[in-house]
Amino acid sequence: SLWPSMILTIAAAGGRLDDVWQKAYEKARKIVEKMSIVEKVNLTTGTGWGSGPCIGNTGSVPRLGIPSLCIQDGPNGVRFTDFITHFPSGLAAGSTFNRGLIYLRGRALGREHRKKGVHIMLGPTIGPIGLKAAGGRNWEGFGADPYLQGVAGAATIEGIQDEGVIATVRHLVGNEQEHFRQVGEWDENGWDKMKSSISSNIGDRAMHEIYLWPFADAVRAGAGGVMCSYNQLNNTYACENSYLMNYLLKEELGFQGFVMADWGAQHKGVYSALAGLDMTMPGEVFDDWLSGKSYWGPLLTRAVYNHTIPQTRLNDMATRIIAPFFAQKSISLPTESDLPNFSSWTYHTYGQQYPYQHYGPIIQQNWHKDARSKFSDDAALNVAREAIVLLKNSGHNLPIAKIDGVRRLFVAGVGAGADPKGFNCKDQRCVDGVLTSGWGSASVNNPFVITPFEAISHKAREQGIVVDYSSDAWDLEHVSNLADYADLSIVVVNADSGEGYIEVDDNYGDRKNLSIWHDGDTLIQTIAGRCRKTVVVINSVGPVNLEKWIENENVVAVLYTAPLGQYTGKAIAEVLFGDVNPSGKLPFTIAKKKQHYVPIIDELTSSKPQDNFDRDIYLDYRFFDKHTINPRFEFGFGLSYTSFEVSDLKIKEINAPSEYLPYPEEYLPEYHTIEDDVCDPEDALFPHDEFDPVPGFIYPYLYDENVFTVEGDTSFDYPKGYSPDPKCNPPLAGGGLGGNEALWEVLYEVSAEVKNTGKLQGGHVVQLYLEFPSTILTSPPKVLRGFEKVFLDSGKKAKVNFKILHRDLSIWDPESQQWIIQTGTYKVYVASSSRKVDLCGEIDIGA
Ligand code: BGC
Ligand code: BGC
Repeated sequence: SLWPSMILTIAAAGGRLDDVWQKAYEKARKIVEKMSIVEKVNLTTGTGWGSGPCIGNTGSVPRLGIPSLCIQDGPNGVRFTDFITHFPSGLAAGSTFNRGLIYLRGRALGREHRKKGVHIMLGPTIGPIGLKAAGGRNWEGFGADPYLQGVAGAATIEGIQDEGVIATVRHLVGNEQEHFRQVGEWDENGWDKMKSSISSNIGDRAMHEIYLWPFADAVRAGAGGVMCSYNQLNNTYACENSYLMNYLLKEELGFQGFVMADWGAQHKGVYSALAGLDMTMPGEVFDDWLSGKSYWGPLLTRAVYNHTIPQTRLNDMATRIIAPFFAQKSISLPTESDLPNFSSWTYHTYGQQYPYQHYGPIIQQNWHKDARSKFSDDAALNVAREAIVLLKNSGHNLPIAKIDGVRRLFVAGVGAGADPKGFNCKDQRCVDGVLTSGWGSASVNNPFVITPFEAISHKAREQGIVVDYSSDAWDLEHVSNLADYADLSIVVVNADSGEGYIEVDDNYGDRKNLSIWHDGDTLIQTIAGRCRKTVVVINSVGPVNLEKWIENENVVAVLYTAPLGQYTGKAIAEVLFGDVNPSGKLPFTIAKKKQHYVPIIDELTSSKPQDNFDRDIYLDYRFFDKHTINPRFEFGFGLSYTSFEVSDLKIKEINAPSEYLPYPEEYLPEYHTIEDDVCDPEDALFPHDEFDPVPGFIYPYLYDENVFTVEGDTSFDYPKGYSPDPKCNPPLAGGGLGGNEALWEVLYEVSAEVKNTGKLQGGHVVQLYLEFPSTILTSPPKVLRGFEKVFLDSGKKAKVNFKILHRDLSIWDPESQQWIIQTGTYKVYVASSSRKVDLCGEIDIGA
């Protein structure tokens, strides 16, 4: 049968990973000790856009057998190549609420990157978190809740890294919209007046409880890389924000790997280095792409030689880049034979070595290695199946196979068939057909696509049903006639968004509104006006407005799916016909009114655009709950073809909670002890006698040995928070991976029993929400703190368990700069959605 039978429970990463990092640092140190300054610099700086086969390529250290590291997008599969799987999006993975399956998707992603020779993968995306419903890149991440992002992000990282590839979790932090993320990206609409990227102004409590929360999980899961984002945070660029990188990420969360700049997100050389940036990509400055000019490379070498940047900082950067390759058994430092077998810049087998630079010999560029396997295929298909959310099924008209009298089917809507331009417009910017992903750097090529029409029609034919089809969105008379004749109509519609460097129909990455595209509302209303049984399938990157027709009684069923990749149609058809019982849940809230969402700032009213995160900690359902606004469909909602009953709530104390965190005992390894061996700059000069430079390629060598000539004032203050001396006292909230070790202690165990009370086998997501007391600070009425998915045959029961950690009961107190467990009564809700509570209990924490 096609029932997803996988119920894996992945042990929470956790454990004392510090020993692991300690050992990794020792190994890395031995290598870094052997390196010269230019060799260390070479690891930190990309060789330039197109100067190497991957999206990003570090310099190499041939003397020690370290090749250029291949860095490649991304979170949906291997970008810019062939013979790969197009996996369902992060948002689809989040919609499954199935941790085990999310882990398997991560493994499959890792395995395919590995097979293509990628060393460092760009993903998963856990920011944007989804503050703004129309945010262009929300579909890359797992959903609008920090707990969900954290669990899914961590499971994905574990999966990727278990296959030998380093994961780079992104984007740190506050990249909640695409408009104005980069100066110079667009000069339309007066945007050329922009002087700096948008500043996301985030308060300390929201930073900890919402935006940084999933990054803590990522660090704890052992992510080797973190990507800092394009935007500014509180008016300092993320990639030169010492408080963000040095303090929050590296000290408080104890991150031991490297921070990599998003492509062109670095804006200063010395400051970014001292603020905690470890690697710049793709190497050159953003406003002079392909120029070979870099903030680092030769300038970093120079800054070390003239003592502007202490060599300890450079050692730290190099160690942080190397150490992740030793922090896990499955991963190892690549050797010179461990190279990528594809090129991001051509699909041909042979081509010029540096196509953008028009330089170099014709060499083999692609080996067309098939990275796919049954393992990938299963992961891709099962995520797609489990991601589908059934929003409405009035009169139980689905599954189709069960409806009597359906002999004539009409399949309609732009999303049902192929775009006339095909399945693979560059970076998936084609929108006039089935939606397999959003657009941008997170998109990948489709090896094939099963469209909804193809799959539905196939199933229908097997049952003797006749099928008609039109993907015309505009000739409504024609479509009406077809609907007239049908016993049941299925309308597949979509809404798309993506990354800011691509504009589609005036959507500059972010969606310009929340409507279904191609005037889908009118199409649905027209068809429902003629066909008593109209089923709507929404394939979209985020919430869309459903109000025009959701209560129309002829619209008997509605499915929502996040982008599902190559198997979009197959998964949808299996749910429609009942081979698969839907078990996906909404990873965000669908509002009735657009005023309930945080708008995109899309008009430039200042040359330094400001985005004040006024929603504070009230992200998504937290806002609706606080203001008792009824959404159309709430976070966590999703129907099934069967029914479930939850009973028997038990709450057990495992460890007594303490109000304050214990002082952290030990500190994680820091790397500061290599002797400062800056010597003769002549050692770092370009070795012109050894090779000719490739034009535009970024080398680490000095232009001349006169490193001390600086015009004007040469005095220099270190940025706030930076000190070249080793840190010995961790902050109270720090000291372990992901923060103070005590945060990860299990304080309570909650269990409940689920029974399948219906006639069909099915999956149920038991959700655990907590309501905090307001002894010190007020919190949202409900916050997600657990979810477990169980699959049960009709009549069968199962027990689900949740572990409530110290951090799950904590609020961030900006005043004392620590996580606090307030005294008082905590309500424990076992629920089927953020609004449907099945069981309620209490935890009393006394003074
Ligand atoms: C590339 C992205 C890159 C971006 C920079 C695009 O053309 O595909 O990967 O980061 O330019 O804005
Ligand atoms: C994106 C990153 C991506 C990079 C390289 C940037 O435009 O923001 O997420 O990894 O390009 O393609």
